[in-house]
Amino acid sequence: MHKVDIEQWLGQHNDYLVDAGHGHFLHPEVLTDFTAMQNAALHDGIDLQLVSSYRDFSRQMAIFNRKWRGDATLLNAEGQVLNFSALTQEEKLHAILTWSALPGGSRHHWGTDIDVYDKQAVAQSQQPFNLICAEYEKNGPCYSLACWLESNMATFGFYRPFDEYKGGVAREPWHLSHKSTATYFEKARNLDDLAHAISQSDIDGKAYILSQLPLLYTRYVLNNGRD
Ligand SMILES: [Zn+2]
Repeated sequence: MHKVDIEQWLGQHNDYLVDAGHGHFLHPEVLTDFTAMQNAALHDGIDLQLVSSYRDFSRQMAIFNRKWRGDATLLNAEGQVLNFSALTQEEKLHAILTWSALPGGSRHHWGTDIDVYDKQAVAQSQQPFNLICAEYEKNGPCYSLACWLESNMATFGFYRPFDEYKGGVAREPWHLSHKSTATYFEKARNLDDLAHAISQSDIDGKAYILSQLPLLYTRYVLNNGRD
């Protein structure tokens, strides 16, 4: 399937998804390559497993609203905890979008993008797992996985869309995208449909978000950062 309609890129109706096990759903073409990559990693002693996969619009909105209301911790791009009550509306919005996408604007809506970790190595570390950069760097439980991905993910069609921080989305070494499949969703993506979906939703801070949406779309959805 290569024809992507509005509801599919917005994560509102994705009936092509297939069961990837353990509650995860993926685009069928992505599951095939993911399974092959997982087997190759296992052969090299790495237990590559999914943390997140497909997530729909409502789920993304629930995450966003929790953060907007102060029911979940907000971090800056360096991963430091922010004092919620001291933030302006603008600061709050940017802090949320550094780590969580707008509903309708997440690559996780497509079934093409995944967050991965080394499950066995994390269990052996006996430390709480927080999905932070340090866990994927030297001395972190997912360092071997990160190095393995660097050398091997392209063979299976994956790349890291959030490889560097440009002033938009934070660096996410765990987030992989299936390039050839995701390209179709990227082409379908547009500001007008996103604005319509958000205006029809129950998102908190709606009026403010809509007033800022052209900027937010470029900076975070397209992840062009501050350029
Ligand atoms: Zn992700």
